[in-house]
Amino acid sequence: MKRYFIANWKMYLSISKSEQLARQLVRLEKQKKLPKDVEVIIAPSLLALQSVAAILKKAKSKMKLAAQDVGVADSGPYTGGVSPRELKKLGITYAIVGHSERREHAGEDGSVLAKKAAAAVAGGLQVIYCVGETKDERQAARAQEVVKKQLRDVKSEITIIAYEPRWAIGTGLAIQPSEAQQMHDSIAREVRGVPICYGGSVSDKNIYAFLSLENTEGVLVGSSSTTAASLQAMFKRI
Ligand code: PEP
Repeated sequence: MKRYFIANWKMYLSISKSEQLARQLVRLEKQKKLPKDVEVIIAPSLLALQSVAAILKKAKSKMKLAAQDVGVADSGPYTGGVSPRELKKLGITYAIVGHSERREHAGEDGSVLAKKAAAAVAGGLQVIYCVGETKDERQAARAQEVVKKQLRDVKSEITIIAYEPRWAIGTGLAIQPSEAQQMHDSIAREVRGVPICYGGSVSDKNIYAFLSLENTEGVLVGSSSTTAASLQAMFKRI
């Protein structure tokens, strides 16, 4: 199965810094320094998507783009909404749906996420769906039950599942690979045939351990994906 490296730049980079990093990645691609047989997916901030898309297009890059979020409809009275169909026209391939920061800061629950995923698919985008439990849920031995419920919330077709324990995101405290393995096995039983990526404090120190797991087709990386140096350090270990 194909493997994935998803770089989520969140709101870490300005538009010009995003363009700069995209150009650095294009240079690495030309020098054949991107990992082999791995689809690199970049998720810049919404404001940088258009110019980063233009940079990749001009370079005839094979890298793909993801929107970090997507609206619930293609057009209409949705102030602040982001149309999946318009994203598709810009050359965006994927939409991330259900990132824990959207669940936490924007209050997005299962019913909203189901609408977003359906709108993304209807607009021609592929869905990267994020799931993951909180620390309390893991300590209460409810992690698998919580993730199963999140998987059942979204009925639309999902292209990639990203398992991201919420307490591991942006904390420098990745889950133990053996615990990720248990969750990935459980997800694979629930949703067969959909590639599963691990996310949560991935760095050059642990990327190989996660990519070596069974039922693991890639990684979703936040802060470590925001500089050329740390990207290269990870690429060398894949
Ligand atoms: C993320 O953005 O989903 C993420 C996993 O972030 P970080 O790698 O910084 O923990």
